[in-house]
Amino acid sequence: MSYKSANEYYRSLFGQKVYRIALDAGCTCPNRDGSVGFGGCIFCSGSGSGEFAASREKPIVEQVKEAKERVANKSCSGKYIAYFQNFTNTYGDEDDLKAKYEAALSDPEVVGISIATRPDAISDKMYGILEELTKKTMVWIELGLQTIHEKTAKWMRRGYELPVFEEAVKRLSEISDLEVIVHVIMDLPKETKEMMLETIDYCSHLPIHGIKIANLNILRDTDLEKEYMKDPFSLMEMDEYIKFLEVVVERLRPDIVIYRFTGDGAKRALIAPLWVANKRAVRNAITAAFTKDRVVQGKAFHHENAG
Ligand code: SF4
Repeated sequence: MSYKSANEYYRSLFGQKVYRIALDAGCTCPNRDGSVGFGGCIFCSGSGSGEFAASREKPIVEQVKEAKERVANKSCSGKYIAYFQNFTNTYGDEDDLKAKYEAALSDPEVVGISIATRPDAISDKMYGILEELTKKTMVWIELGLQTIHEKTAKWMRRGYELPVFEEAVKRLSEISDLEVIVHVIMDLPKETKEMMLETIDYCSHLPIHGIKIANLNILRDTDLEKEYMKDPFSLMEMDEYIKFLEVVVERLRPDIVIYRFTGDGAKRALIAPLWVANKRAVRNAITAAFTKDRVVQGKAFHHENAG
């Protein structure tokens, strides 16, 4: 069974491997500052689900330079995607954010921009800025959906209802050349596998380009950690999860690019499930599950754990 990986997609676009470099635009989140809610999503860490981003104190140009230096030993490709990862990267003064996006793009080796945000935090002015950006470069917008089930969404304090997400996807898909990537979480407590697959089926019917699938990671110093410690719930073991992923991939529309298969929290902050920390073993197991054909043909395969 195969699927469209991020590496394959980048190669088809740019003819080579491309690295995503995580940047910090200095934003907060309406689900944390009181506009929508306080405390944020139950699983969100203090860094706004962006453990690997550069320091927000530094100007974007400097963040780009340092991020490139960090991956220099892995990459001689010379092509990067600026990834505004943590918190809500369309939330704030639009002109200020536009200047930050453009600062990242001023580096000639940055060939595109990926902006993570919430569907309820894109103003009309911001839609216009995003459209303008598509005239200059590749633009991906990443929206955190996590689940389509309202009961779970309330439990996780997502702070918006499904129609809000649908409206944002619709508006974004009307901007030609802008690609939407949706984040979903599997193995949420109180969700059956069938419920998780309903979320996947729903995504398959959206005008989206890509998906990031994560299994629920419980991170230190989150409200989820407190809940888990008080009343531990079971989480899938690696083998079970990868078997489940095979069903997920079968159900997903084949043209949707899969950017990620597991949660990607920092190892030092991970409480459970601990198998996620062994990235090499996870990567090998996923490769074995999905690339049997390609292995038989002796071709190399790379699973991108982007973001
Ligand atoms: S929307 Fe994102 S940044 Fe905001 S609380 Fe939820 S996970 Fe954290």
